[in-house]
Amino acid sequence: MITTDALKYLPQMGLGRSRVVGCAGAKCQNSFALANGFAVEAIIGEEVTIAFFCSAGCYLNAIPRIVVRGCDEAAD
Ligand SMILES: [Zn+2]
Repeated sequence: MITTDALKYLPQMGLGRSRVVGCAGAKCQNSFALANGFAVEAIIGEEVTIAFFCSAGCYLNAIPRIVVRGCDEAAD
C-alpha cells in the first residue's frame, strides 16, 4: 500500500498545515486540517494534483481496488 504524507506537499502548494479542506472522498463531507489528513497524487488529464482525504478509510475507498483474478485459460 502506498501512503503519502500530506505535509510533504503543503509547501509546494502554498498551503499551511492548519488549512482546513474538504475530504476528496465521493461520499464524505468531512472537513479537516491538512496536518491530519492523507494525501495522494492524482493525475487528472495531464496535470498532477493532490487529493486530500480525512481518513485512511476514505483514502482506500477512493483508490480503485486491484482485483486479483485467477487464470482464465479455461474460459475461452
Ligand atoms: Zn473523508
